[in-house]
Amino acid sequence: MPLKLYSREYSKEDTTIRIGNFAVGGGAKAIIAGPCAVENSELMFTLAPLLKDMGVHALRGGAYKPRTSPYSFQGLGLEGLQILYQAGQRVGLPVVTELLDVRDFDQVYQYADIIQIGSRNMQNFSLLREVGRADKPVLLKRGLAATIEEWLLAAEYILSEGNRQVILCERGIRTFENYTRNTLDIAAVAAVKHLSHLPVIVDPSHATGRSELVVPVSKGAMAAGADGLIVEVHTNPQQALSDGVQSLCPEELAQLIKDVQAIINCQSPVVGGQ
Ligand code: PEP
Ligand code: MN
Repeated sequence: MPLKLYSREYSKEDTTIRIGNFAVGGGAKAIIAGPCAVENSELMFTLAPLLKDMGVHALRGGAYKPRTSPYSFQGLGLEGLQILYQAGQRVGLPVVTELLDVRDFDQVYQYADIIQIGSRNMQNFSLLREVGRADKPVLLKRGLAATIEEWLLAAEYILSEGNRQVILCERGIRTFENYTRNTLDIAAVAAVKHLSHLPVIVDPSHATGRSELVVPVSKGAMAAGADGLIVEVHTNPQQALSDGVQSLCPEELAQLIKDVQAIINCQSPVVGGQ
């Protein structure tokens, strides 16, 4: 069996992925934040400068949403991609968005700086191969019920097609516990750092499903060696079209960044970042 491209045996050095003027991995820590979904331009144009000012490195927002119910808000599609892109451009933040379907690849590629593969698609092998042929970083979320090995082998699909810019994201897994939306597998963060040279970030929002747990869990994740966080934030969480209960308001995110600052020591200034 060939040496796995994700493995520490393949590369002892941590992989550092550069996106615009920030980096993740190899000691560089990054904070990605934004709403679950791009709902309208007002939300994105209001949030983007606030996030930029508090030192967030990249703006997230789903234009194609994988919703449990087909009757829930599905995202704005192409219009959402364009709004996200414009919001990022206005303040100079790179943008992250999910690619749900291989047929949307060209559109998402055109507007995104980082292509997210969501939990529900972690083993969508044709999608993995497609982004594996792209020259943009991929944020690969762990599947809802994927083992660490399955997750790393999903990354291998991308790497083996030639794209070496893979950022792993632990976002909680399904367990018997249902007080939290998922169970954050913090040991997986440490395990992945041990097994792989790829950067691994944590999504405390989907991991807990509860905004009041996002800050403590984020601190734990960074202390365990995560290379960054991806956090959901909304100007009015109660009115959010998706994932409002787990979304922070901007003031809470600013406080989170301050709280984890001592642990993460972001490579670019966290407060008043340029
Ligand atoms: C998301 O990031 O909004 C999302 C749907 O995440 P996950 O794939 O981890 O559920
Ligand atoms: Mn969400």
